[in-house]
Amino acid sequence: MIHVCHAIGCNVQVRPQLLMCLKHWRLIPRDLQRAVWAAYVPGQEIRKDPTDEYLDVQRAAVEAVARKVDGMTQHEGMEIDIRKHKHVRADVAAGIAALRVQGRQIWGSTRHTLPEIVLRLTIVAGDLARLARDGEAALDVGEYTRSLKKELGNILLSTIRWIDDLGLDPLECLDRAIEAQERFTKSRRPR
Ligand SMILES: [Zn+2]
Repeated sequence: MIHVCHAIGCNVQVRPQLLMCLKHWRLIPRDLQRAVWAAYVPGQEIRKDPTDEYLDVQRAAVEAVARKVDGMTQHEGMEIDIRKHKHVRADVAAGIAALRVQGRQIWGSTRHTLPEIVLRLTIVAGDLARLARDGEAALDVGEYTRSLKKELGNILLSTIRWIDDLGLDPLECLDRAIEAQERFTKSRRPR
């Protein structure tokens, strides 16, 4: 069986006992690298029985690499495109599905129409505008950050619900948005 690097979007083949290709492994902080090997039980890749501890540390390592890659300029082999990379696309779909279910648990089967959605977006935009205007000056920093997280989280969670309310496919919506944003940045004159 082919075993590939666990870094998101990487398809480099590596030996089964290794978590990542060398390029991605080097992006993991030292102490986390050590934790990966500390949790590794010889033969787990053959028995397919990694411990919970290993899976936790693996997740932390994958996230650490993803954060590093985010902060780096795109370079060869590290580009992510949810339109092309099937397993990344499946991960995105699964995450959105979980959020949709969470939203349904809160709101039940109530569905919003487009005018209702527009009204609610306007309210969120108003709350954000107030935060931007008064910002940290009016609130203490902790409260400012909490409000900011709440408002942006609201947009994320609600948009997934609204896409479902309108009977649209979230991945298709994302594809269109990615295309449009790419077109937009490419059409701008170089600075
Ligand atoms: Zn890799």
